[in-house]
Amino acid sequence: MTRLALIAHDEKKDDLIEFVQEREAQLGDYELIGTGTTSGRLMDETDLEIEPQASGPLGGDLMIGAEVAEGRLDALVFLRDPLTAQPHEPDVSALLRICDVHDVPLATNLASARYLLEGLSSDG
Ligand code: PGA
Repeated sequence: MTRLALIAHDEKKDDLIEFVQEREAQLGDYELIGTGTTSGRLMDETDLEIEPQASGPLGGDLMIGAEVAEGRLDALVFLRDPLTAQPHEPDVSALLRICDVHDVPLATNLASARYLLEGLSSDG
């Protein structure tokens, strides 16, 4: 089963919720994980089940990075806020890097997230 991680920085959480609501039927077929606050918001606003990890600033990005390193994650949508400094920027960089190391598809904005989900759906 496709295992997909969903993360959004605070300024992007509303965008991710809207994106996920539009694609709830597709996403319902996947195993979903996410950082703490993102998961909670998404479960409040959709009927999806999402395995919550720690909040991003408390290590959640690194927990998701560990799944990538272990070969357990198929793809990641991470809507980053490029205009606000993040205290956990080193963790964010580590997560992006480990996706590149393992060639895991990674979308960091809505436009690429749309293509990513189209690609996942055409993979079957
Ligand atoms: P959050 O973490 O979902 O717990 O807010 C996201 C992040 O900032 O990496």
